[in-house]
Amino acid sequence: MAKVSKKKKKVRERTERRFLAQSSQNKMIVAALGAVGSAALGAGIYGQVWGHFERAEGQWVSPVVALAAGGALVLAVAIWLGTSADPAVRVGDAGVALEKGELRRMPWWAISSLTWESGNAALVLVGKDESGRDLTFKVSARSHPHAAAWLLKEADLRATDVTEVPDEARARFAEPDAHAGTVIALEPMQVVGRRCAKSGKMIAYEPDARICPRCERVYFKNKVPKRCKCGLPIAHLRDAMQGDDLEETADDDSGSHEVAEAKEA
Ligand SMILES: [Zn+2]
Repeated sequence: MAKVSKKKKKVRERTERRFLAQSSQNKMIVAALGAVGSAALGAGIYGQVWGHFERAEGQWVSPVVALAAGGALVLAVAIWLGTSADPAVRVGDAGVALEKGELRRMPWWAISSLTWESGNAALVLVGKDESGRDLTFKVSARSHPHAAAWLLKEADLRATDVTEVPDEARARFAEPDAHAGTVIALEPMQVVGRRCAKSGKMIAYEPDARICPRCERVYFKNKVPKRCKCGLPIAHLRDAMQGDDLEETADDDSGSHEVAEAKEA
C-alpha cells in the first residue's frame, strides 16, 4: 500500500527551567528578624502619626522615631539575609546557563567535566560556552538545591561520560521537583555557522544540519554517525528532516536504520 506521507515538519520544542537562588541563611532567623523589624517599624510609624510622645529634655530623638528607624534597619537586614547574591541558573535542552550580568550558557556537548566540590557543596562545571570560550561555573546545592538536582539528572543523561559525582554527594539530592523553577520556551537552535561534530565541516545551509536531541551536537547530514558522541543512536537522522524529534524512535531498530545504511552501500 502506498504511503501517503504528509510532509509535516515537526519543530523540536526546546525548553529550559529557570531557578532563582535561595538564601543559605537559616529561614527561621530571617523570618523572626523580618517579623520584629516590621512590627517595630509599624509601631514607630503609628506612634509618630497618632501618638503623644514628646521628646524629653536631653533626648536628641524621640523614642518613636528611634523605634521606626530601628525597625526599618532590622527589616533591611532580614531582606538582605533572605535574598541570595547567587545568580539565577537555567537548566534545559540548551545546556546549563548562568545569569551573571549577561547569560552565559554551556551546552551539554561543551561540558568537559561535571564534578562535586564537597567544601562548597557545589557542582562544578568546566567546559566552553556557545562561542567556544572557556567557562567554569558552580551550582551550589545550598542556594540552588532544585537547579543542582535537575542539573545532575540531565547531565546523567546528556553528558554521561564527563559526569563524575560521587554517591555521597548524590545522596544530598532529592528527586528533581517537577514544579521547581519556571519553564521557559527557547528559540530554535541556530545551526548555520556551526561545525559538524564529526567532520568539522561548516554548516552553511540549515537543511544540511542534523541535531542530536540529547546533547545538541550538530552534524552535517551525510556525516551523521551511528551513535552521537553522547551515546544516542542517531543513524536515522541522516534521512530525517532537520528538527525531527527522534526521542521515541532512537532505540527502535525496525527498518529506518537499515534503509539508511542500504542506500549508502
Ligand atoms: Zn548527542
